[in-house]
Amino acid sequence: MTDHPYPLAGVLGNPIAHSRSPKLHRHWLKTYDLVGDYVALPVEGDNLETVLKTLPKMGFVGVNVTIPHKVHALHIADQVTDRATLIGAANTLTFLPDGKIYADNTDGYGFIENLRQNASGWRANAGPAAVFGAGGAARAIIVALLDAGAPEILLSNRTRAKAETLRQEFGSRVRVVEWVQAGNMLEEAATVVNTTSLGMKGAAEFRVPLDGLRPDAVVTDLVYTPLRTPLLDTASEMGCTTVDGLGMLLHQGVPGFERWFGVRPEVNDALRKAVLA
Ligand code: NAP
Repeated sequence: MTDHPYPLAGVLGNPIAHSRSPKLHRHWLKTYDLVGDYVALPVEGDNLETVLKTLPKMGFVGVNVTIPHKVHALHIADQVTDRATLIGAANTLTFLPDGKIYADNTDGYGFIENLRQNASGWRANAGPAAVFGAGGAARAIIVALLDAGAPEILLSNRTRAKAETLRQEFGSRVRVVEWVQAGNMLEEAATVVNTTSLGMKGAAEFRVPLDGLRPDAVVTDLVYTPLRTPLLDTASEMGCTTVDGLGMLLHQGVPGFERWFGVRPEVNDALRKAVLA
């Protein structure tokens, strides 16, 4: 925790205007009556290192980084957590008193905590997990599911080569399934995760056939605009427990806020309302 008189934090990305992180952290600052602020900072790729070296001199105690900076930030950092190394990207940076940058990735933590909070009784080891997508977010989800004890990850991505790369990296508990057969993964899956952008407002529809879904499966979507995606609606109609993606965003903010401002904040309905407002 910082002893700075007016600690600042923020989120660096490009574009960044749409980010909900300022609402999230400002809600917590207000709730816990803390001094400080959290701002969105548009930063272009080439400027990241200069900006990160300058921010501590301006009173910043840490920042979140988002697209397109997550991989580059990891390489700029002086110290990196094991989970950020495994994921290969950082989303939470803390500026240490000796001037060093400490990098973490809390996306997988946020994902797991969201399921624990909103799908009571959910256990990663209940059975195989079906993961759609092999982009940046999928890396964090796979690391988190394996770490939490998922016996197997069935992974399908439109571009198969990207899924194969993840299998090579994360080992034999990952099994790649052809995209045209992605629906077949559902027959075995106890946990189902959409990490693609399909179903997002303005993006293409999620068209994987869902008739194989098991009614005892827990289904979650990383997409949270809209909050209830067609995948979640269909899964819910089929009797599955469903969890929306907003909770992941809220929970991933907890470790950073605690490090920067010294209070472990709560994720609750008031926070959801504030972030959606
Ligand atoms: P990314 O690295 O760009 O990956 C995008 C993924 O979507 C890839 O697997 C891509 O497949 C797939 N995809 C895109 N268009 C497709 C299409 N028309 N048909 C089939 N697959 C398609 O993005 P990301 O960072 O992983 O983010 C993915 C989603 O997760 C976004 O909607 C993002 O907002 C969301 N997200 C949410 C949270 C949260 O806290 N809830 C956190 C992180 C991300 P290809 O490899 O074939 O292109």
